[in-house]
Amino acid sequence: MSPAPPETSRIFWKCQRCTACCRWPGDVKVNEQEIRGIADFLELDVDTFIQRHTRLRTDRAGLSLIEKPNGECDFLEGNDCVINPVKPQQCRDFPNKWNFPGWRQVCDAIPVPVENEGL
Ligand code: SF4
Ligand code: SF4
Repeated sequence: MSPAPPETSRIFWKCQRCTACCRWPGDVKVNEQEIRGIADFLELDVDTFIQRHTRLRTDRAGLSLIEKPNGECDFLEGNDCVINPVKPQQCRDFPNKWNFPGWRQVCDAIPVPVENEGL
C-alpha cells in the first residue's frame, strides 16, 4: 500500500534576489500614488520624475518606469533596486500574486510552505 500523499499547503515563493525580473522586457507599471512615493524618495518633484523616469505603457493605459538600452529596469544598479523601499506593487507582487507561464524557468525564488514562513 502506498503512503498517503503529503498534505498540500500553500507555498510562498521566497525571492533569491537574482534580479531576473528586473531584467525582463516589458512595462513596470506605476500608478499615481507610487509615482508620488518614488518622486519623494528621489527628492524630485512629480513632473520631473515623470519626465525623466517614466514612459507610456505599451497599452497606453498609464505609465511605466523606463528601461535602459539593454532592456533592464532603469532603477536596477548591479543587483540592487535603488528605489527598493518604494518600488511599485508590480515588483512586490511577483511571483506570489502574479506570474506567467514559464516563470519558474527564469526566476530563482524557492518554495517555502506558508506554515514555515510564520505568515
Ligand atoms: S526573478 Fe524571482 S528570485 Fe529573481 S529577483 Fe525576481 S522574484 Fe526574486
Ligand atoms: S523598480 Fe526595482 S524591483 Fe522593480 S523592476 Fe525596477 S529595479 Fe526591479
